[in-house]
Amino acid sequence: MSENNDYSLFDEVNYFVESAAKHLDLDKALIEQIKQCNSIYEFNFPLRNDDGSKEVLTGFRVQHSHHKVPVKGGIRYSEEVNVEEIKGLAALMTYKCALVEIPYGGGKGGVRINPRNYTVSQLEKITRRYTSELIKKNFIGPALDVPAPDYGTGAREMGWITDTYMAFHPDSINAKGCVTGKPLSLHGIPGRNEATGRGVFFGLREAVSVEEDMETLGLKTGLKGKTVIVQGLGNVGYHTAMYLEQAGAKVIGIAEYNGGIYDEKGIDIQKINKYKMDNDGFKDYNKGKFIENSTELLTYECDILVPAALENQITSNNAKDVKAKIIAEAANGPVTQEAEEILLKKNVLIIPDLYINAGGVTVSYFEWLKNLSRVSFGKLQKRYEKQKFQDLLDMMEENTGQKFSEKQKELIIKGASEKDLVESGLEETMVKAYHNMNEIRKKKNIKSLRTAGFVLALERIAISYMDLGIFP
Ligand code: NAD
Repeated sequence: MSENNDYSLFDEVNYFVESAAKHLDLDKALIEQIKQCNSIYEFNFPLRNDDGSKEVLTGFRVQHSHHKVPVKGGIRYSEEVNVEEIKGLAALMTYKCALVEIPYGGGKGGVRINPRNYTVSQLEKITRRYTSELIKKNFIGPALDVPAPDYGTGAREMGWITDTYMAFHPDSINAKGCVTGKPLSLHGIPGRNEATGRGVFFGLREAVSVEEDMETLGLKTGLKGKTVIVQGLGNVGYHTAMYLEQAGAKVIGIAEYNGGIYDEKGIDIQKINKYKMDNDGFKDYNKGKFIENSTELLTYECDILVPAALENQITSNNAKDVKAKIIAEAANGPVTQEAEEILLKKNVLIIPDLYINAGGVTVSYFEWLKNLSRVSFGKLQKRYEKQKFQDLLDMMEENTGQKFSEKQKELIIKGASEKDLVESGLEETMVKAYHNMNEIRKKKNIKSLRTAGFVLALERIAISYMDLGIFP
């Protein structure tokens, strides 16, 4: 729920869809069809603990749009999970996939638990039972609905889901495509773990490369020297911070649920991440200043603010105090619609969730393609290409009499690894989508990048629906 508890995340997403629809000439009934969730499944299941005690847990899976199948979206483990949140996240997936041109409908799932309160063995039981409930109702499958990691889940849970699905479908040759974000040993793909953070980095790099946009913000182009504050040092936050640091940006603040660190000299991301793994919070970290109420960090002076934890972090209560010039919504829904209005008036550039965190679903798509084709990317051509480049260099040396150094040869000859190809596909997707979205913003004279993103996505989804027609 947002600040005044009047709007759910689903309401917020639909508000943005309505704002975008004003810029398009679409049938009202079609917009209504697009806005609604097609299938909603809420269920309860029991968990038997090792000491014999039992408890009942609530799970969800929502399929927002079937204009493209399978539907795709993560599984979240959090105490905050509720049906309106999952509907909102599923809807967001639909628009996200359309914006970055990944051929999926949107979906999302979750279990209402705090995973920190459960042992690994309990989490495995919960994940397997949750999966079996989805199987019973056709809410999972490589051609139907393909989950992935989200807040509170990771490759380990995806491995359990794969194994459970395969146990129920021993004769399905595509079974491994039932979920993405799997461990490499189960035909996951290199680069998936870091994909969302890598995508946030590419998105920010593109945003700060546009001279006229940076001039409006009073910033120079480029990431080098830009100050950054990150909320949530989990999968997305950590990788985003790491790539930004590598590009020469300075991470000066990190907010976690139990306190944050501020250091204007810059925080070493590897060191603080290791510290986070080994300790419960940053209280005794030996560098920078410990900030007990970490949400305060959202209002500290910085060039780029990256909320990478949960939704509704920047609301009408704190938006007026935000000093960042750019907000990159690495999390889903961190800025409420009321906060966005305040921030836009303050001329803040909000790079919206539906674009900036699309790196995860992009690489998930590559993983799913790999599972369906049952071959690693580059496996067939790598050696062939290597030989072609070797022949070319040999010919050039022979014809010109000029010799290349071993280093130069290695650089040219080296064929692309699967990870190189994944990164290149991710970069292409993020670069293209940013400039498409920004061009629409300028062409239609729209203030918000989010509205521009929704305009582009909505138009593409509407075209798919119109081309499909109405059954019967
Ligand atoms: P994660 O569980 O790996 O990390 C979340 C981090 O946020 C944790 O370190 C947690 O302790 C911290 N956190 C929780 N509450 C906080 C608070 N109030 N203040 C500060 N920190 C807090 O989750 P993730 O996969 O990194 O997902 C984070 C966000 O990114 C979610 O909104 C998710 O929907 C979105 N997202 C994730 C992916 C993905 O590929 N994992 C893809 C797209 C979007």
